[in-house]
Amino acid sequence: MRLAAALRALAAEKMSREMPLTEVAERLGVDVSTVSHYLRGDYPSERARAAAERVLRRSPPFGLWPLLEEELGREVASEVLRWLVKDKVEARVRVDDARCVSCGRCAEACPAPDDTCLGCGECVRACSTGARSLEVSYRDAVYEVSRER
Ligand code: SF4
Ligand code: SF4
Repeated sequence: MRLAAALRALAAEKMSREMPLTEVAERLGVDVSTVSHYLRGDYPSERARAAAERVLRRSPPFGLWPLLEEELGREVASEVLRWLVKDKVEARVRVDDARCVSCGRCAEACPAPDDTCLGCGECVRACSTGARSLEVSYRDAVYEVSRER
């Protein structure tokens, strides 16, 4: 829980450079005073933030997603992940037409609010035929995500 809170605080810092605090608070599911604490560095602790930064550097989005979703819920987790990996991730979905049965589960599972792929891997997990796979470039590494993974 502390890790998810610290990751949310890191996202809030990035968001606050581009939008008013009220909007940051609304998107992150917290009140404005909590966002102010995040920005002043009162909470979470410096140690928790440093740990979150280390995790963020080492964990690609599909690794962070399950924790964020579990702790923050799908909507807030999607917002947090989007800001945490902004400009650092490139994700490309591949679909094997021979295996795709057009069930639509991948679309239902996708938490992205728009067409920008977050590299979370949910669509790959949701695809029961293994038709869907993902190539994720994150920082200096490239990952292949498939159901067999
Ligand atoms: S397309 Fe797949 S990997 Fe990309 S955000 Fe949606 S569910 Fe996640
Ligand atoms: S979940 Fe898999 S089989 Fe279903 S539509 Fe998506 S890619 Fe096709």
